[in-house]
Parts: sequence; structure tokens; C-alpha cells
Amino acid sequence: MNVTYFCKACDKVSRAAFDASATAVNCSRCAAEQAFPSSFLGEDSEGNSILERCTICGSHELYYRKQFNQRLGIGIIALGSTLSTIAYANHNLFWTFLILFIFAGVDLLFYIFMKNLLQCYKCNSEFRGFDESPEYEPFNLEVHEKYHQQRVRLERAEKERQWLEQQTQAPSDDGVHEAHD
Ligand SMILES: [Zn+2]
Ligand SMILES: [Zn+2]
Repeated sequence: MNVTYFCKACDKVSRAAFDASATAVNCSRCAAEQAFPSSFLGEDSEGNSILERCTICGSHELYYRKQFNQRLGIGIIALGSTLSTIAYANHNLFWTFLILFIFAGVDLLFYIFMKNLLQCYKCNSEFRGFDESPEYEPFNLEVHEKYHQQRVRLERAEKERQWLEQQTQAPSDDGVHEAHD
């Protein structure tokens, strides 16, 4: 398995391999240690080992999605539409549609055979190279929204805290002046 996460020590995206017994990983860029929670693996109903929580933030809420290479997908469609445009310019409707059809099919096949990756709702870390399990759940907008709201609230609270800090510093200066008067 490997994890792609945001390293707080160097503010960069790092990818590191780990196994079931790992207790930490080191950032691939700055080598800073990222500690893991004491347990992060569990078992599904079929006895397969599954990732139960994010090894970076410890959250239990993960979702799986296709690790679809968007650039490749768009490239295939772009090539298909270019070729079909050439066929269309040559007044060959049969080839125009056949080319479009084939390239759309190739894109679909890529999508079907693409492996899944697991992503953490809370910290957006990505996990690759795990075994498939029916217990992994697809993306859920409600859960995503919950974490999004949480982040917004935290940011707002932090801004308020900074504002309050400025406010409490300023009046204390006034207080000194008043005391002298
Ligand atoms: Zn780092
Ligand atoms: Zn996480």
C-alpha cells in the first residue's frame, strides 16, 4: 500500500509506501516523520484485511473512487474527435460515427479496468494498492459536506481568534494612557 498525503513540515504532497505493521512514514521530500495511529487495519466480513481509518489523521471516514487518469481520458476523446472531424470533412458519415463510437468505447474500457483508490474525507489523503472489499463505500456528498463545513468553521474560528487578539492588544494600550490621565 502507499499513501499520498500533505506533509505539514514542508507544505508539499508526499507519497510513501507502508505495510500492515508500519507505525509511521517519512515524507518523500523533507523526510519528516508522519506518525500513524496505533491501529488502522481491520477485517471485513470475508476476512480480508481492510484499511479502517486514515493513517494520517485517524478519521474513520474514507471513500473509494476510480484513479482515472483525466489527462489520458481527455487525450483519447480529443484524438477520436479529431479523426472523426477529418472523416466528416471527407463526407464519410459512416467513419465519422464509427470512430466516435470506438473511442468512446476505449474510454469506457479504461474506466472499467481502472483500479480504485481510497480517499480520506477529512484530510484528503489518498491510499493506493489495497485489496478490494465490498465494505469500502463510494463518495457520499453528505459526509463530504460535513467535513467541508467543519473546515469552514475552524477557519472562521481562527480568524475570529486572531481578530480578538488584535482587539485585546489595542485597548490595553488605551488603558495605560487612561491610567496616566
Ligand atoms: Zn515533508
Ligand atoms: Zn485523513
